[in-house]
Amino acid sequence: MDLKELQLTPRRLAILKALDINDVEGLLRYYPYRYEENVTKAFKEWQKGDNLLFEGRLLSYPGTYRFGKRAITRFKVLYDEEVINVTIFNRPWIKNLKENATLVIKGRYDGQNNFTALNYTTHSLNEELGIKAVYSLKEGMRQSDIAKMVDKALKTAIIKDNLPQEFIERHGLISLEEAYRNIHFPTSKSALKKAIVRLKYDEFLRFYLVLESRRQVSLTPKEVKDFSMDKMATAIKNLPFELTLEQKKALGEILEDLKKPLTMTRLMQGDVGSGKTIIAALALYANSLSSYMGAFMAPTSVLAKQHYQSLSKLFPNLNIALLCGNKKDNGDIKKAISEGKYDIVVGTHALFSDDVYYPNLGLVVTDEQQRFGVKQRHKLKNKGQNVDLLMMSATPIPRTLAASIYGDMEVSTIEGLPMGRKGCDTYLIKENSIVSIIDKIKEALKAQRQVYFIAAAINKSEALNVKDAVHLYAALKDLFKTYRLGLLHGQMSEEEKDKVMEAFLNGDINILVATTVVEVGVNVVNATMMIVYDADRFGLSQLHQLRGRIQRGYERGKCFLLTANKDAEALKRLKVLEKSNDGFYIAQEDLKLRGPGDIIGTRQSGIPSFILGDIMNDTLIVEAAKKDARELLKRRDEKVMDEYYREIDDKAILNAGD
Ligand code: ADP
Ligand code: MG
Repeated sequence: MDLKELQLTPRRLAILKALDINDVEGLLRYYPYRYEENVTKAFKEWQKGDNLLFEGRLLSYPGTYRFGKRAITRFKVLYDEEVINVTIFNRPWIKNLKENATLVIKGRYDGQNNFTALNYTTHSLNEELGIKAVYSLKEGMRQSDIAKMVDKALKTAIIKDNLPQEFIERHGLISLEEAYRNIHFPTSKSALKKAIVRLKYDEFLRFYLVLESRRQVSLTPKEVKDFSMDKMATAIKNLPFELTLEQKKALGEILEDLKKPLTMTRLMQGDVGSGKTIIAALALYANSLSSYMGAFMAPTSVLAKQHYQSLSKLFPNLNIALLCGNKKDNGDIKKAISEGKYDIVVGTHALFSDDVYYPNLGLVVTDEQQRFGVKQRHKLKNKGQNVDLLMMSATPIPRTLAASIYGDMEVSTIEGLPMGRKGCDTYLIKENSIVSIIDKIKEALKAQRQVYFIAAAINKSEALNVKDAVHLYAALKDLFKTYRLGLLHGQMSEEEKDKVMEAFLNGDINILVATTVVEVGVNVVNATMMIVYDADRFGLSQLHQLRGRIQRGYERGKCFLLTANKDAEALKRLKVLEKSNDGFYIAQEDLKLRGPGDIIGTRQSGIPSFILGDIMNDTLIVEAAKKDARELLKRRDEKVMDEYYREIDDKAILNAGD
């Protein structure tokens, strides 16, 4: 409904605009961020420090004093046959009140008949008692502005409730209109609770209607893949190591999917170093045994190249190609792809450029899926017909939570790490400098170990006060004169990056100064130390990924997180990494702090987000909404779909099938 129908004053309309509220629904969904309970009591029960409300009669004309910029106003009121001395700040206009006026005053009792008022009104006491909403505001706005507009919206708008009656009854929900009324103007605590439950349920229902419909779109029929399990068993036996139980389970789930007559949409999640690549490689092998071509997409050319090398080593009998950005022989490779000459093509985004044609694409694997958008993934998938899709993520979340958040795909989870992983010790250094650890760095270099330095920015910027890679590189070059240094960041050309990375891999570079380009997958076993400047600028999962780079080698890694940030919250967050090396736990902490949008990359994908809902803690409501969404989709209830889909970007649903 249009805001015009509320006939608001220009000032109020400007307030809505400033709060980014564009329609009546948006106003109704501008929920309070907290509530206050207003109570009153007889004077003899007042205790020093009590926050309360009382109705008194003005006895003296208020006098106003200036104290610096503050206006202090004092007056006396009569309450319960006691004279109360009231002080109020910055309300000089209070002196316009009539003597003997009745005032409702809210604030704190300071003892000895002195009261500091926060607020006063001339409304009746009853109007002010009870639970009151508190909205988050910007300058020049008053709580009453929002309350009055919401009240008007509730009186004007016709709030349709299209949720089937039997769902309302099944869960004991209140109507949508009642829910909106009570979240803004709760008549009691239990009424407020019921309102919150109904509105959370609606948020989750929206969420699951989109996820579930996407899932149904993604389950399109396909030709089953036919491969020899004996050959698979031989390949597994010939691996240089034994697969862990968790790896075997994940592989089993994937192979089952390949054999099904419906396309696979599966996420394989596991901590950094849990051994996802080998499972993806075996899936690609099964796909090629079924006479299909496979594509393996990585977010950087460095990583693509690494995968290309390990696949070539694993399967010397397969025809494998590497296709990255501006490689010189790309033309020839593209031609060979179109002629169906390869079993597997490994590469970057170049894999789905318009001039690449795959005659019989059967399986697409994306590594580090959080780095790709939904669109990119589907662009590659749509290079073939009814292609199976396997995505890999190193931001793993607990299985049950994964089932809630990734409702539109199947999830395989690899818990634990292969035996013999060395792990890493992490230290929080409360200054953005290496002075206190310089000896440790020198020691590592002397022992022929390689060291990463990570910076949050490439170049110096006026706006951000952070160490930048370019200056850091210059400074470290001065400091470590006898060692060779390399610089790696996203603004370098692919060729330059490859050259630096290769030199680091070969040990020709001792110190690599880099941005988060090294975050993903890079595997240099001799690198055992990492120093991260401005660590507070990174997400927890990102830092965990970064330090994954130094846990691949001969000895335990050492990771130093530097920060000059004194904020207690920021430090507490970083301490999580000092204490835990468990990617599942860390992702969950990240999720708590930043919400699911950032973790699973749904922000741009059109999946509705939650205002009230907390997917980690509202388990019962989540389960109910998920089940109901499935039921509604099965019934194809037009009325409900219309109501709940209306504001959802159509693309959210279409993306799944495009
Ligand atoms: P990630 O899951 O982070 O992508 P990788 O797939 O790169 O991890 O695996 C990390 C390393 O562990 C690789 O060198 C890989 O060869 C090795 N690896 C994988 N599985 C096993 C296993 N079952 N036993 C021993 N080493 C393994
Ligand atoms: Mg990996």
